Amino acid sequence: MSTQAISLKLQAIGASPGMAVGRAFVLDRRRVRTPKMKLGGQEVERELMRFKTAVDLSEHQLLELKARLEQSDGKDHALILEAHRLMLRDPMLVDEVNKLIAAEQINAEWAVRRVTRKIKHLFDEIPDEYFRERRADVDFIADRVVRNLLGQVVDVEEEVPEGAIIVAHDLSPADAAMLARTGRVAAFVTDVGGSTSHTAIVARARSTPAVVGAGRVSEQISPGDVVAVDGSRGLLWVNPPAGTLTDIRADLEKLLARGREAMQVAQLPAITTDGFRVRMQGNMEFLEEIPELLAAGAEGIGLYRTEFLFLDRLDAPTEEEHYLAYRSVLEKLGGRPVTIRTVDLGGDKMPGFRKAEREPNPAMGLRAIRYSLRQRDMFRAQLRALLRASVHGNLRIMFPLVSGLAELREARTELERCRAELSREGVPMSGRFPVGIMVETPSAAWIADRLGQEADFFSIGTNDLIQYTLAIDRQNRDVAYLYRPLHLSVLRSLKAIADAGRAAGIPVSMCGEMAGDSRYALVLLALGLEELSMPAGQIPAMKALIRRCSRADAVRVMDEAMKLTTAEEIERHLRGFEARLGIEVG
Ligand code: PEP
Ligand code: MG
Repeated sequence: MSTQAISLKLQAIGASPGMAVGRAFVLDRRRVRTPKMKLGGQEVERELMRFKTAVDLSEHQLLELKARLEQSDGKDHALILEAHRLMLRDPMLVDEVNKLIAAEQINAEWAVRRVTRKIKHLFDEIPDEYFRERRADVDFIADRVVRNLLGQVVDVEEEVPEGAIIVAHDLSPADAAMLARTGRVAAFVTDVGGSTSHTAIVARARSTPAVVGAGRVSEQISPGDVVAVDGSRGLLWVNPPAGTLTDIRADLEKLLARGREAMQVAQLPAITTDGFRVRMQGNMEFLEEIPELLAAGAEGIGLYRTEFLFLDRLDAPTEEEHYLAYRSVLEKLGGRPVTIRTVDLGGDKMPGFRKAEREPNPAMGLRAIRYSLRQRDMFRAQLRALLRASVHGNLRIMFPLVSGLAELREARTELERCRAELSREGVPMSGRFPVGIMVETPSAAWIADRLGQEADFFSIGTNDLIQYTLAIDRQNRDVAYLYRPLHLSVLRSLKAIADAGRAAGIPVSMCGEMAGDSRYALVLLALGLEELSMPAGQIPAMKALIRRCSRADAVRVMDEAMKLTTAEEIERHLRGFEARLGIEVG
């Protein structure tokens, strides 16, 4: 650490939980200097050749990376690389660069920058998060070509030292996946990005702590600086004072010890001291998360967010692609229940082919089941694939964001139509499997008694339920302080949903973030939820905690809490109760 090294503490966005302390490995992705030169007429031909060679080399590198990922467990990321390769070969890029080199007699690096700037302007006109992220993809490709033109090293994963904290302006999904695969990355820190950015998704899937949206920190941090990351709270320290560093290391040690202790019970059932059994399941976005989920003790998949099959491509997956993904999950889970949610596209998760659709209020717009019911061909491809895959394991289908009975009936009717069609085609399917819904709108919570008559199970999506109940945009940092799972209105909704499910005789689970948060374990136990579904990293700790609690205590504390009013009062009450019982939470 140099004597003038900065020291700072920063609040950014926690994108993947966990803590890490290490030396910064700064990826200078953004600052590829682009030389600008005018060519003599006789140099144009050579320049076109240089450009072609750089594109060929870039393609070769992408194919090599892709092959390496395919051999390991990174098939989803391999798809992302394929999308990058197609972008690299897009005439909008290649032909335009060739034209510019010839017409304006400029060097290839300059031409690449000018053309990609134009492409990004096109994306700029589309004001949604998904397309802001696609602009980044254009930059990654341009950077690769320019670096190859300049003869610079492109793929750095070989150089990353053990325990590195990767600091970057932004990271492509390919970079994040390759870096995580080295097993030497302790955490990711990026200037840009939100909790739904690809880096965040890859980091969570790999249980690597990550802090994103950290402003211009990649310019402030120097290689080798000591960086501490708290991915749960979104905190970042650069060269912290010795005392702070000691405290951070102590917190980290405690967290690791708790993790090790929790792993010892990972394969045991989550059962309270008075015999209440909770099935612990895993949330997943990518197939490669499955081994870690199983190692963490997942007893099934409670939520497979299938929209992630759509997010890195410009067209919808075919029925066959859907089928192969579902078959693979079902087979890997070997008879354990697998809850596959039909796509929740829209809102903050826009596929490439919806790029031109602007919605004034996407969270309340054409999202999830509403979108699927509008896009019947897409929906039918997914349903047919699910039905075909049903013979390969223990399938459960779940519809997202159902707000009324009509939607559930309509979706079920479409499923039965697909079943009849496949049956006529002589395709084998499993007889019957449960078809349930996410309860994640206040509307569904209010009519849960009626929905319970026609759904085979409920899974509570607290991320959205809280967003809509408290009228807080879950993407908006300015109102994040109002996002309170212990708000009385949320607790009343949760209780109403759980009671309605019980009265209807159907299982009720939870797959929103609240399910994996140990601070709410007593509430979840009191609600009597039969299943909790969460990312792999949270399963062992929640299991360990549940094994130390009694359901009777949980019911008692919840009854008392429901007599209070504010989230602060309720939280104080819970913490006091836990302290008296000697239960340590998050
Ligand atoms: C939820 O809303 O709680 C949920 C699990 O769904 P998603 O986070 O995918 O919207
Ligand atoms: Mg949701």
